[in-house]
Amino acid sequence: LEERLVQMDKMAALGTVAASVAHEINNPLAVISGYSEDMLDRLREGDNDALLADGERYLSIICDQTKRCKNIIRMWLDTARLPQAESEPVNVVETVEAVRELLLYRAQKKGITLQKCLITNGAGVLPVVIASRGQLQQVLLNLLINALDACGEGDRVEIQIEVRDQECFLRIIDSGVGIPKENLSRIGQSFFTTKPPGQGTGLGIYIVNELVKGWGGRLEIFSEGEGKGTVVTLRLPLANNGREQHGKPNVSSDSCID
Ligand code: ADP
Repeated sequence: LEERLVQMDKMAALGTVAASVAHEINNPLAVISGYSEDMLDRLREGDNDALLADGERYLSIICDQTKRCKNIIRMWLDTARLPQAESEPVNVVETVEAVRELLLYRAQKKGITLQKCLITNGAGVLPVVIASRGQLQQVLLNLLINALDACGEGDRVEIQIEVRDQECFLRIIDSGVGIPKENLSRIGQSFFTTKPPGQGTGLGIYIVNELVKGWGGRLEIFSEGEGKGTVVTLRLPLANNGREQHGKPNVSSDSCID
């Protein structure tokens, strides 16, 4: 769990890293464009003496600043890669169960029930989606930790998996604090958080959205308002239009696991 959480923190830090990289690169870029414009002006004016006098110094500054930009970018790529949505067949039920196991301890400690519920379509189709198992786990971790954060003693979080119309609906339903109307549209904007400093970055749902869009899916967030709980729905297209996986479900229809 710790490793997963560290990984999530890293992902959450990406947006901050991106902002600081943009900021850092802007300075050498301003220097590069300043000196190259100056050299171009002199060239166009035919002021060869001035060009020769300062050209070497200007060019070496441009080279140094270009190297600086390259180093900033290399460091960024080495330490934190922006999540690119990967694509492979992923068994949704298995993935959900793995994530639930990671969080059971945390939920139990807070006195929250964390339940998984599978709704099959009668034909026994077990959902397989085109995503990445690791990334889908990260997405679910992000959403489930939000749900657990919103809940207190005696509350309930349910992960519902439903196969319908060639789509897999993954719903995370919590009975927690809910979301006031005025905040609903702001959730998912980078850096929007209501958590205290140091606890929230406001990048979780933003990154989740990027990954889900990359898989051709979508994320919907619904809450009736403060104190009324929240439903987050992750919609993902089924692999092979759902024609695959007519195997026997290992969990019977409409069953829930506590
Ligand atoms: P962070 O968790 O760092 O704040 P997120 O993008 O994951 O960033 O979430 C942004 C905000 O959305 C949270 O600060 C919280 O206000 C709200 N939120 C997300 N999920 C829930 C939920 N299940 N219940 C209530 N509020 C939520």
